[in-house]
Amino acid sequence: EIVMAHEQSIAYRIALVGNPNCGKTTLFNALTGARHRVGNWPGVTVEKKSGEFKQDNLRIEVVDLPGTYSLDVVDRDISLDEMVARDYVHTGEADLIVNIVDASNLERNLYLTTQLAEMGVPLLVVLNMTDVAAAKGMMVDVTELAAQLGCPVLPVIASQGQGIDELKTAILAAVMDQPRASARLSYADAVETAIIALIDQMPTSTKVAPRWLAVRLLEGDGLAQQTVGPEKSALAGRLAIDLEDDLDIYVADAHYGLANRIANAAVTITGRVERDTTDRIDRVVLNRALGIPI
Ligand code: GDP
Ligand code: MG
Repeated sequence: EIVMAHEQSIAYRIALVGNPNCGKTTLFNALTGARHRVGNWPGVTVEKKSGEFKQDNLRIEVVDLPGTYSLDVVDRDISLDEMVARDYVHTGEADLIVNIVDASNLERNLYLTTQLAEMGVPLLVVLNMTDVAAAKGMMVDVTELAAQLGCPVLPVIASQGQGIDELKTAILAAVMDQPRASARLSYADAVETAIIALIDQMPTSTKVAPRWLAVRLLEGDGLAQQTVGPEKSALAGRLAIDLEDDLDIYVADAHYGLANRIANAAVTITGRVERDTTDRIDRVVLNRALGIPI
């Protein structure tokens, strides 16, 4: 304990967010080495893992969040993993969200990224599996992807430890700069009008963007309602009456549309590689709205 007292304290905390199988655990290990702390998230049996690395003599804690396809899942449909990831991002306990995307499934992975962009949290994107993408004949233009998202993008091959040093340098810069993605969704006029009516009423004390809270409230999301209180939730409820019934589906589709546009701008198909059928089926099934009837 005496030794601990002399040791430097944690300077920054980052959280890893990404779809299942994007290489999150591999990246976590590559960043933090062998020493991890493993426990459970409070109140649930979802594993919580954290580790750390040192950059420029500063200790940076790394929290590995459960893999998730979406952070905007409304409470009635949410899984424990999704809830842990969403709630943690929402608290703003992390100084930086590091979003790992699988370059070989870029469009699908960017769906989550568009949500993080709308949340307005400090964001750095790690483009992983660039080797798999290359083998599939897909070239991702990192500069274009960063320009489209409006936040730093670092390419890595986590399983080979490639790009990790550069990533650590970029993480330290980002915990200090607090970059937020500038990629913006625009909704239909009626939805935008309702957002504008709500946005000034949103609390400024939260770590998430007022616009994100406004959209979630219009969808009737429980976490957002809890965050802003009953009065503003009721106001949102009244505004939502004039909007389409399946607003959450509409919003999800808008996010898919943005992910599609960003991926199209950033990806060049070099070989004659057809998009395989499972990718297309997954995209449909992963769309919660369409997935339920199926
Ligand atoms: P998680 O579900 O996001 O935690 O994903 P894992 O870290 O468990 O990785 C899933 C699989 O992808 C494992 O077999 C990894 O070895 C592999 N993997 C991770 N990163 C890369 C990469 O950059 N390139 C390749 N080829 N495989 C990777
Ligand atoms: Mg994992």
